[in-house]
Amino acid sequence: MSKETLHKEVVIIGSGPAGLTAAIYSARANLKPLLIDAPPDAEKQTSPGGQLMITTDVENYPGFSKGIQGPDLMAEFRRQAERFGTEFLEAWITKVELQQRPFTLYTKDQVITTETLIIASGASAKWLGIPGEAKIPDGLGGHGVSACATCDGPLPAFRNKPLVVVGGGDTAMEEATFLTRYGSRVYVVHRRDKLRASKIMQEKAFANDKLEFIWDTAVDKILGNQKDGVTGVQLSNVKTGEQGDFPCAGVFIAIGHKPNTELFKGQIETDEIGYIKTSGHSTATNIPGVFACGDVQDSVYRQAVTAAGTGCMAALDSERFLDHLPIVMPTGDEVTMEGEHVTADREAIITPDGHIVPNKTGAAAQGD
Ligand SMILES: Cc1cc2nc3c(=O)[nH]c(=O)nc-3n(C[C@H](O)[C@H](O)[C@H](O)COP(=O)(O)OP(=O)(O)OC[C@H]3O[C@@H](n4cnc5c(N)ncnc54)[C@H](O)[C@@H]3O)c2cc1C
Repeated sequence: MSKETLHKEVVIIGSGPAGLTAAIYSARANLKPLLIDAPPDAEKQTSPGGQLMITTDVENYPGFSKGIQGPDLMAEFRRQAERFGTEFLEAWITKVELQQRPFTLYTKDQVITTETLIIASGASAKWLGIPGEAKIPDGLGGHGVSACATCDGPLPAFRNKPLVVVGGGDTAMEEATFLTRYGSRVYVVHRRDKLRASKIMQEKAFANDKLEFIWDTAVDKILGNQKDGVTGVQLSNVKTGEQGDFPCAGVFIAIGHKPNTELFKGQIETDEIGYIKTSGHSTATNIPGVFACGDVQDSVYRQAVTAAGTGCMAALDSERFLDHLPIVMPTGDEVTMEGEHVTADREAIITPDGHIVPNKTGAAAQGD
């Protein structure tokens, strides 16, 4: 059976804060964007709405003085994008072709071509895959288990309580040091007898007297219940196999993040980890017409508000890109926003004041 074919001016991949903000701006600019997001996937902990769907209280998103639940915030974003005419498609994109414009995207049932593409596919925190870690109700994720100390550390449930951080790299040291502002004591549980973190981060962590290290140890299980949240972790010494329970009120998994860029591998410029590179103070990638926003291009800030900010930038960048593309008239002539006509045979350009100049572009114009 043949696939449905669609053509769009703007397609956005991902419905987290970045993608939905891009959709709000593009839709208000009458560009009728199509936003594609993957269906819910319990194993990968993904669902339309992005990472905030797996958390509870969001206390730092401006405009909500009393805080808001992550899923409620994303439902608001979505309603706002819908209100201005965003079209939504729930599907995994299985393949993209970015070598030429229009770009082509494939899902199981559709082939979608688009003049501009906004990639807002986000990033995924790496998880341990242990019992108790999954999102509530299957585990205690969002109820004492978190992958973001900046986001969740200041929550009342963690104040003056013992907290556990899992990991041994820079992220873990940063998260653990940050959490000492809130917890009574912070315990870094690490599988090895030394850290992977940079020397400076290690020195900072070792100098912090609210931080303690539990070496050669793995977290096997997160303990607790729906009513009380996290009450502890089950630990085991990786060398001796000795097991024991350790009481704590929160577990922060800090073993890194992975940008969701598998789909674009080999087609778009990324850094060595896989984050999409954007150019200067813009969301432009190395492919004209493809823009990236949010956590998929940001390994530093990784916050909902920064993702939303770059989503706005991507929509404006794509709108400006479209404005400067020539529009093909029924006669075959092309008209640019500046009012120039390129004749159908592409031999001449007629300027707005009536001058006819030869259509010499690129190498030809430079006399090559
Ligand atoms: C537990 C937790 C708590 C957090 N709490 C806070 C907080 O309190 N405050 C705060 O500011 N930030 C918080 N953050 C960080 C915040 O969630 C992220 O910075 C933000 O969601 C990034 O937004 P994004 O739009 O870039 O990507 P994401 O939210 O990651 O959304 C990306 C979307 O793209 C979709 N996608 C990926 N690949 C494909 C594909 N191939 N096809 C189709 N769709 C695809 C995904 O399904 C997902 O829906 C938290 C993060 C976590 C993990």
